[in-house]
Amino acid sequence: MSETSPKLRAELEGIPTYKPGKPAAAGGPTAYKLSSNENPYPPLPGVLDSVSSAVSSFNRYPDMACTGLMSELSDRFGVPLAHLSTGTGSVGVAQQLLQATSGPGDEVIYAWRSFEAYPIITRISGATPVEVPLTPGDVHDLDAMADAITDRTRLIFVCNPNNPTGTVVRRAELERFLDRVPGDVLVVLDEAYREFIRDTEVPDGVEIYRERPNVCVLRTFSKAYGLAGLRVGFAIAHDPVAAALRKTAVPFGVSQLAQEAAIASLRAEDELLGRVGALVCERTRVVEELGAQGWTVPETQANFVWLRLGERTADFAAACEEHGVVVRPFPGEGVRVTIGESEANDIFLKVAEAFRKAA
Ligand SMILES: *Cc1c(COP(=O)(O)O)cnc(C)c1O
Repeated sequence: MSETSPKLRAELEGIPTYKPGKPAAAGGPTAYKLSSNENPYPPLPGVLDSVSSAVSSFNRYPDMACTGLMSELSDRFGVPLAHLSTGTGSVGVAQQLLQATSGPGDEVIYAWRSFEAYPIITRISGATPVEVPLTPGDVHDLDAMADAITDRTRLIFVCNPNNPTGTVVRRAELERFLDRVPGDVLVVLDEAYREFIRDTEVPDGVEIYRERPNVCVLRTFSKAYGLAGLRVGFAIAHDPVAAALRKTAVPFGVSQLAQEAAIASLRAEDELLGRVGALVCERTRVVEELGAQGWTVPETQANFVWLRLGERTADFAAACEEHGVVVRPFPGEGVRVTIGESEANDIFLKVAEAFRKAA
């Protein structure tokens, strides 16, 4: 055996590994997973059917251009086909955006804490992450983010609503921010939870993209549409960004099963958005109950709530797990809890109440 090992890029050192939400404990009396912001509803029968019919031909490569899905998306959002690009989840598309825009010496700005994939994919690209702290209210500090722009800035993520805090930026502040961003810097509006927003002051990124050539919108089928396990997301962007996404795509990245499921989901959108409505009602119930218990919860427009527990984070997560719900702790900072099945939410609320009384 040789003493040496293959040379790896220096950038890989110190890159945090992505921590997936823990699965629900097996074997217990109840086991609920509230750790990955997944949709708790099982796939719709119609969506299952269309996936099942595609199963018999998985010896073949998928349609590389995602023709059927692209044309559904083009109709649904009223955007030209040339402005659409699909990928292996919106995280996959975000990584392509970095490949297309950023490398060593460049800077990528995002709020922190925000989506944990941002630092990972930024560092993999070789670019330098510029993390701008959230305001004390856990909201994007857009003024500070604009102040952080330099000649080296290539891309800025705005996660709206923000994962893991659930907070949003509203129309006026976002427009003011975008007015300050130079036209040669790409702004990525990551709208993974768009369908859960009920605040009418939060702009639809697709409307913003129409007015601004340097804005790209990321959407996913993983959350509201319940296809997390199939890996499909998409971007809406002007040229040359959309063209760059087609160049950086992993060939055949989106499986035929994922394409069929996404098409069927768009066609069953009313039913799926009905489920989203039920989850939003559950969110209201959970937030109100937490408030009544005395917790301060940042206003969430996503399918999760954020409890800033600081040093008590790990204890709280352990208490939840003891009672059969797995949540997502960010040690030393807080806990993100997905709105799930009512029974799961009830257990979480009971644990929260007991924890509060004991504190
Ligand atoms: C869940 C999530 C995504 C979507 O991930 P997929 O790769 O599409 O499953 C993107 N951005 C944020 C902020 C998320 O929380």
